[in-house]
Amino acid sequence: MVELEGVGKTYPGDVTALRDVDLTVQPGELLAIVGPSGSGKSTMLNLIGTLDRPSRGTVRIDGHDVGVLSDRRLSALRAHRIGFVFQQFHLASGTPVLDNVADGLLYRGLPLRRRRDLAAEWLERVGLGHRLDHMPTELSGGERQRVAIARAVAGSPGLLLADEPTGNLDSASGDGVMALLRELHSGGTTVLIITHDRDLAAGLPRRVAVRDGRVV
Ligand code: ADP
Repeated sequence: MVELEGVGKTYPGDVTALRDVDLTVQPGELLAIVGPSGSGKSTMLNLIGTLDRPSRGTVRIDGHDVGVLSDRRLSALRAHRIGFVFQQFHLASGTPVLDNVADGLLYRGLPLRRRRDLAAEWLERVGLGHRLDHMPTELSGGERQRVAIARAVAGSPGLLLADEPTGNLDSASGDGVMALLRELHSGGTTVLIITHDRDLAAGLPRRVAVRDGRVV
């Protein structure tokens, strides 16, 4: 699902955020990328999520070499194969929960009715079937993150990337979000979680530790 080979990333200003990283993630894995702040985790997530390109080395997602795809093909790969969940939820605040999820399917070329049906189905599955018409501001943090997860997986992306998904949540809501991510993993989704929370990582089947831009 993910293959990094000799990957390096240098930002303008000569900041080397990643050096010579090799990483293979098999389809269906659940793993954590762990490391202190500034170690290169987000940079790695951006490369795996095809939001950025490496300075050196090869990134392959689902067999596609990201370095040789046109921007258009890359956007299509991202839209069809990758779902994102962020610490800050990133929901549209003036849009009802149902359409927050349905809008995540815009790039799929599905008619609005079908997008809304799928969105409602997923919101039901994350336990928010009774909140479809609510605004995100009317929800708790844990509920907002569950909406974000529904949006990320409604298109059955295969690869789910979660950047500190419990970082803004109290421990009970965080446990609920982790349970949901495990459930998606059981259903066959590859789930990669970025975290600096060692306890959270300790509960996952695989941990990849990053320090000073290297996998250690
Ligand atoms: P983490 O997610 O582990 O906190 P990051 O990947 O965000 O680490 O950052 C790794 C290093 O790269 C840090 O030294 C950070 O300051 C630097 N960095 C990250 N993004 C940029 C950028 N857009 N431009 C310049 N330096 C960056």
